Amino acid sequence: MARINDHYLKLKAGYLFPEIGRRVSAFTDSHPESAAKLIRCGIGDVTEPLPQAAREAMHRAIDELGVRDTFRGYGPEQGYDFLRAAIAENNYRKQGMAIADDEIFVSDGSKCDTGNFLDILGPGNRVAITDPVYPVYVDTNVMIGNTGDANAEGAYEGLVYLPCTAENAFVPAIPDEDVDVIYLCYPNNPTGATASKEQLTAWVDYAKARNALILYDAAYEAFISDPEIPHSIYEIPGAETCAIEFRSFSKNGGFTGVRCGYTVVPKTVIGSTASGENQALHPLWNRRMCTKFNSVSYPVQRGAEAIFSEAGQAQVKALISHYMGNAQLLSQTCQEIGLEVHGGRNAPYIWVGCPDGTDSWGMFDKMLEEASVVITPGSGFGAAGEGYFRISAFNSRENVEEVCLRMKAMAF
Ligand SMILES: *Cc1c(COP(=O)(O)O)cnc(C)c1O
Repeated sequence: MARINDHYLKLKAGYLFPEIGRRVSAFTDSHPESAAKLIRCGIGDVTEPLPQAAREAMHRAIDELGVRDTFRGYGPEQGYDFLRAAIAENNYRKQGMAIADDEIFVSDGSKCDTGNFLDILGPGNRVAITDPVYPVYVDTNVMIGNTGDANAEGAYEGLVYLPCTAENAFVPAIPDEDVDVIYLCYPNNPTGATASKEQLTAWVDYAKARNALILYDAAYEAFISDPEIPHSIYEIPGAETCAIEFRSFSKNGGFTGVRCGYTVVPKTVIGSTASGENQALHPLWNRRMCTKFNSVSYPVQRGAEAIFSEAGQAQVKALISHYMGNAQLLSQTCQEIGLEVHGGRNAPYIWVGCPDGTDSWGMFDKMLEEASVVITPGSGFGAAGEGYFRISAFNSRENVEEVCLRMKAMAF
């Protein structure tokens, strides 16, 4: 009989979003009159249509595929040169970071890449994650056997949890112990926090001193407006020797359904073989992509390239201002009604303290029952998220204005 990967059985059965779904259905079943007014501010998915520049480029690419002379079959596994060059030039070299075109690996998204990257890391790594955290980092480590079982609170044996609290402004302190791999995500999902140059420098210095690897998720970099906040880990000197960066067109270009992201693997980042020799990660990731991936469709890569055009950049800027205008309205409202508000300034998430005496799920129920608004309970992202809830700014302006009105009418 085929043996299964027993590590999968350690996974806590996708608790957060199924439980949200269950509570929402129970509410709409018992309050059918409220079902139509329900507003979802829970899931981190974009709502506004694709930028015109990307749509036009995809239409043109499809027409090229309809003509024998310009038809294309399989493309390079790492992505087309035109897109790798556009990414490296616009997002890195023009910003003063020496990233080469062939250090960019195009993919179908950074959720996939953060999980797949574990393919080229060996067993036995001590892995650090923040708490609260984007659950993908945890679950993919469980699947590959880097953890033991979860305890009653859902914390896995073997992972190093780095608490992110209001006291440390949701950027974890450098641990006293040695870890081999650290996941950092800034601007952060779920807290909306950003990391300063000084904070990231401390992490890069730690990684260099302890030979650790930083996996840096910058999916929300486009939402940064404060000029002091780094958009990339490679703005920090030395990061090119110890950090991998994941980026995506999902949140800036609205590509969550179109699917395109990329991973930056500098040739200078090294790991250790079982016998203790240095080995660059770049050839391993290249091999992994060549063997297990056939890249993203040609029209999608042309659509992503168009994001860097002048028109594309203007359209992305308009999308970001739309979402950040929502974030500002939601933050203001939460402040006005006396709640503790974090994030929402350089990120599309507002991380709100629950009123005294209410926990994260209590707040979820209160918002659902009194305002017909769906939020995400902070405890769903980790134990340190208890006492908070996340409001997503991905919505129409009309919905956000209505959510603000309803929250102001609630008693806290
Ligand atoms: C949305 C998101 C991504 C992007 O994922 P894709 O697979 O590129 O759509 C990556 N990381 C985090 C933390 C996210 O919230």
